[in-house]
Amino acid sequence: MSKGKRVVIIGAGPTGLVTALGLARKGAQVTVIDREDDILRWPRAMVYLPSTLKVLDEIGLLERAKEVGAYGYEFNLRFPLTGNIGRLSYKDLEGLTPYAYNLHFGQDILAEIVLKEFIALPGTEICWKTSFDSIEQSNDCVQVSVHTTNGPRIIEADWVVGADGARSSVRKDLGVDFEGFTWEDTFMATNVYYDFDKYGYAPSTMVAGAENWAVIAKINDQGYWRVAYGEDSSLSEQERVARIPERYKSLLPDPNAPCEMVMANSYRVHQRSATTYRVGRVMLAGDAAHATNPIGGMGFTSGVQDADTLIKCLGGVITGELSEDALDWYSYERRRCFLEIANPTAIEFKRRTQERDPQKRLQDEANMFALMADKDMCRQALFSTFSLTGRGYRPDWRETYLVDDQAGKGSQGPGHGGINIQK
Ligand SMILES: Cc1cc2nc3c(=O)[nH]c(=O)nc-3n(C[C@H](O)[C@H](O)[C@H](O)COP(=O)(O)OP(=O)(O)OC[C@H]3O[C@@H](n4cnc5c(N)ncnc54)[C@H](O)[C@@H]3O)c2cc1C
Repeated sequence: MSKGKRVVIIGAGPTGLVTALGLARKGAQVTVIDREDDILRWPRAMVYLPSTLKVLDEIGLLERAKEVGAYGYEFNLRFPLTGNIGRLSYKDLEGLTPYAYNLHFGQDILAEIVLKEFIALPGTEICWKTSFDSIEQSNDCVQVSVHTTNGPRIIEADWVVGADGARSSVRKDLGVDFEGFTWEDTFMATNVYYDFDKYGYAPSTMVAGAENWAVIAKINDQGYWRVAYGEDSSLSEQERVARIPERYKSLLPDPNAPCEMVMANSYRVHQRSATTYRVGRVMLAGDAAHATNPIGGMGFTSGVQDADTLIKCLGGVITGELSEDALDWYSYERRRCFLEIANPTAIEFKRRTQERDPQKRLQDEANMFALMADKDMCRQALFSTFSLTGRGYRPDWRETYLVDDQAGKGSQGPGHGGINIQK
């Protein structure tokens, strides 16, 4: 056993697995546990924004991602009120970044790719059907109690990462609050075989349609797309599924064209953040640390950035290059990125797609066309996902970044201090 290098990661979602791979590559001895018997296959995130591509590149998985993913170069915002379409092209970033595109493929495929690399490394272990129960920690180690199909087990670790999703048992066990609110509407995520390409839909499309708003995104080049839209929370899951054909009539460009719905899942959405992302030897990451509505892809994208920062900070502590202060930085900076950038961005995307006031919708349209007329502004908008990357650790961050942030300068995104998480 390599004391100081033992890490237990709870949750084999994209955040947990990317963290696991990065830490194992730095020589950590990593055990991942997950209560399921395999990778979750629900219809979930599938758009890889430029900042996510950069992380995939850093962990050596970008070429594989390019092999499995569909390329997307355009983002569209459709305005059904006037029939106009706002367009932003990632090609405008060519020459400025190697990541001037999006990739599209299910997060389950990413998990598969990462897992294959992870288990090939020495000192790694993945334990399916293993549920987290509780944590006891002292100054120099953590005891993780889990239950398996063979009964209870205690795993001893030096560090623990809670990446067990928005309902995180790790976060609850630590007694950390999840501040914020839950939206009233329910989101319906459906995967459908339908030829949106034929009707000129960009791989990433938002339809600003009050009742009939939608997010339509390509899943792969084999004809599968995600159609996500809102449903009444008072309906049962069965009723929501039964309504899909009816809803498709107003969401698909030609309801009579061939169409096969292959998967559907409904879920409530939140804007919430844990009050801290570190308690002693335990770090929270991904949806366990923060939850957002998925319009704009801020949840998945933020989780991958958490993983990247953890690889650098916790990885640095494990290799002896950084002090534990880097873990306080992890908590501070990732929380700031969520509260100041991801959270308000996702709230604004949701407002824009669901706006009911026709005057505001016309104003949104005018703003979009003004943006399109200014290439510098377009580039800035497309570059904005890189702000989710956050700043690199520096040992004097409390005297520099923190002081600047508290004085309202030097930080990125709207607002500083980032503590306001109200609607
Ligand atoms: C239906 C749906 C659609 C979505 N669509 C989009 C989208 O279009 N775009 C987007 O950007 N985001 C989307 N999201 C959000 C995105 O999927 C999440 O942000 C992302 O999955 C977060 O990854 P994660 O690894 O942090 O957590 P998760 O993917 O939730 O993984 C958590 C893992 O922890 C495991 N686990 C949970 N509890 C325990 C326990 N007690 N013990 C052991 N293991 C445990 C779970 O089995 C799971 O494997 C969607 C989410 C949902 C639910």
